[in-house]
Amino acid sequence: MTEQKVLLTGDRPTGKLHIGHYVGSLKNRVAMQNSGEYTPYIMIADKQAFTDNARDPEKIHNSLLEVALDYLAVGIDPKKTTIFVQSAIPELSELTEYFLNLVSIARLQRNPTVKTEIQQKGFGESIPAGFFIYPVSQAADIALFKGEVVPVGDDQEPMLEQTRELIRTFNRVYDVDILKEPQGIFPPKGQGRIPGLDGVKMSKSLGNAIYLSDSKDELWNKIKSMYTDPTHVKVDDPGHVEGNMVFTYLDIFDSDQNKVDELKAQYQHGGLGDMKLKKYLFEVLDAELTPIRDRRAEFAADRGAVLEMLAEGSAHARKTAQATMHEIREAMGIEYW
Ligand code: ATP
Ligand code: MG
Repeated sequence: MTEQKVLLTGDRPTGKLHIGHYVGSLKNRVAMQNSGEYTPYIMIADKQAFTDNARDPEKIHNSLLEVALDYLAVGIDPKKTTIFVQSAIPELSELTEYFLNLVSIARLQRNPTVKTEIQQKGFGESIPAGFFIYPVSQAADIALFKGEVVPVGDDQEPMLEQTRELIRTFNRVYDVDILKEPQGIFPPKGQGRIPGLDGVKMSKSLGNAIYLSDSKDELWNKIKSMYTDPTHVKVDDPGHVEGNMVFTYLDIFDSDQNKVDELKAQYQHGGLGDMKLKKYLFEVLDAELTPIRDRRAEFAADRGAVLEMLAEGSAHARKTAQATMHEIREAMGIEYW
């Protein structure tokens, strides 16, 4: 049997998971979990959620279970994947602190994803220090579990680059070979950064998402209000498909691309109304979301069992973390007795 590679990834408990997560990361994780080629760990990054939500602990507390339910609903199986909670592993904070000494502030300032997020969150001059350094804490998450493959969306590329740099530096400075450089696994082109209802990256924190748990009504209301083409006033007017969110989503979610091409041609020519088009998108998305919604409701009926699953996963993950931490401390010469 070939050796299984460690897979590590995660999500912040800042809200429920959305269809961007589904195509950008979750689908891939389920396939990789079921391939038998990996030892998968999935972390609910509550400590990272505090870096920009420190004053809203209730949101983080409540989202923990919601994210866990979303995982179970899409088919992440705790028998095959260790699902754990970041704050239950104090060794992660310890390694973050050691890593912080191996990176400069100037280097952290160059991270394009963090730059964008600082703008989006409107921090201005008051960037929380913890938020600014979160790529270092993320590097510690991957390093401590010796993550080799990391399936994530496109916004995570700079984090992986930072992680590889820190791991190389650590191994060089302490003259060891214990930490492994991770490889990112990104979704197919066009699916790694799904736009939200307003056109910018779909995000739990931006209120622009279609959630996996949205009811049929919620789904329809969101699709109904979607941005199409302002020049397409009457049904017979020729319409534009570029920048038209309904077509953007059809391109991503409809497995029948011939049908999408047909609709595009009809729309461009004139004669296809926005409502009819939106109803079609609703059918496509609802077909994908209905089984997820149904499974979610089944798991949600026993929240105690979900919490227990998280506690077990975290206890198991902690053992792995402690073993690596022991090696790290030894390498640094601080395992004194
Ligand atoms: P937040 O607004 O709190 O940052 P988020 O929606 O960005 O939430 P994260 O928990 O930060 O979600 O990201 C979890 C994973 O999902 C990451 O791998 C990220 O790349 C991926 N992801 C997030 N948003 C999208 C998206 N719109 N399209 C594709 N992948 C995404
Ligand atoms: Mg994010």
